Amino acid sequence: MNYESVIGLEVHVQVKTVSKLFCSCPTSFGAPPNSNICPICAGYPGVLPVLNKKAVEAIVKTGLALTCRINLESIFARKQYFYPDLPKNYQISQYEKPVAEDGMLSLLSSNSSQKVRIRRIHLEEDAGKLLHTIGSLELEYSLVDLNRTGIPLMEIVSEPDLTSPKEAYEYLSTLKNILEYLEVSDCDMEKGSLRCDANVSLRPIGSQTLGNRVEIKNMNSFHGVQEAVTYEIKRQTEVLNSGNRVVQETRLWDSDQKETRVMRSKEEAHDYRYFPEPDLLPLKLEENWVEAIRAQLPELPEKKRKRFIEDYQLSEYDAAVLSSAPEMAHYFEKASSYLKSPLAPKIISNWITTELLGRLNTSNCPIEKGVISPEALAELVGLILNGTISGKIAKIVFEEMWSHNKFPKQIIQEKGLVQVSNEKEIEVWVLESISKNPKAVEEYKNGKEKAIGALVGYIMKISKGKANPDLVNQILKKKLA
Ligand SMILES: [Zn+2]
Repeated sequence: MNYESVIGLEVHVQVKTVSKLFCSCPTSFGAPPNSNICPICAGYPGVLPVLNKKAVEAIVKTGLALTCRINLESIFARKQYFYPDLPKNYQISQYEKPVAEDGMLSLLSSNSSQKVRIRRIHLEEDAGKLLHTIGSLELEYSLVDLNRTGIPLMEIVSEPDLTSPKEAYEYLSTLKNILEYLEVSDCDMEKGSLRCDANVSLRPIGSQTLGNRVEIKNMNSFHGVQEAVTYEIKRQTEVLNSGNRVVQETRLWDSDQKETRVMRSKEEAHDYRYFPEPDLLPLKLEENWVEAIRAQLPELPEKKRKRFIEDYQLSEYDAAVLSSAPEMAHYFEKASSYLKSPLAPKIISNWITTELLGRLNTSNCPIEKGVISPEALAELVGLILNGTISGKIAKIVFEEMWSHNKFPKQIIQEKGLVQVSNEKEIEVWVLESISKNPKAVEEYKNGKEKAIGALVGYIMKISKGKANPDLVNQILKKKLA
């Protein structure tokens, strides 16, 4: 039998706030263990939580960007379970009435316009962290660090609308892209500020009923999610093909062994004994406040990409690359704003995607640091457009700009790199080339047009790349005729 896979993702995103969700402890990463804690987040009896308004603002912003309905009244609930990193033995989360519901995300991939429904987005507090090793030393006991306890998280739950591991990957990159534009999270998987669980099930193609689903945890990169889901689809296919049933359970992804392993049988919502948090009032939002946030939403990647294609005549690919991070989009638009020529944006885009990005990636340097400023890149492209330098010289200039943080005009002056467009000067080079390359001249005259390349190459060599290539070709053909 042929099966299709049904995938839903639950993404936990750390909300970028200065203080925790229900107390004023800092959220800074890397502090000494148990230094960012207080009686509230350490779960002492008798303390009362106070909600962080900035976290609410961030989730409303996210909900609106993902076209969710914002519930003007939502409720916090206690999710109860015992684990050593959870000092209260319950987590304050949301259950029946989350802040945002029923949204949509369009996958940002070059070849699809597929939409994935967002079921809900709710606000909850993070748990602490258990340490079982120090460096490479395996401990005989475990240590508890509560610095992370109480840090605000958004849980973004998709409907099971994803049908392949590749789509799961695209969903995560698109979501990350949007969250970065909104500036609501750092989205750094290494620091744990973005975590993802995947629900995977199979069903016979064409069937509407969902098969038993398996939840996969412990994936620490988008690529890991893609691998784990791929593995799980294969595993479930084998189980079904051998006539067995898929067991509903939670499995852990082992990125070394490249396999999923049983962690526990899947818990149901009723196992957590959810009930409304008695220490917090229902969260009531004013419509005006929500609308004010909506009015301030930035232009989101999908819209920006379409605008780049329409306004600057960029290709789909270039527009996707340049809108993949807000800083890069800003850099591109800023550089383009300095030049009036309609050709400029396309050339600027080429310089960014081919020359600049490669160097930034290898040196692990963010574009906003401005090693080459948008003004400097625009100046370079302006000099190419007005014929002062050739494309070849521009590469030399660019290299200097990158390593010495100078403006192109200064480099050209210092190195004497201005393109020679004086016909008399070029003619001298052309005549020398003709007299020094009799074989190429002979071949050209016998109809082998390509032979002219050797003559041009010679001129570029003796002029140190400074001869205007268009003029060289023109004069050379005239002389040869
Ligand atoms: Zn605290």
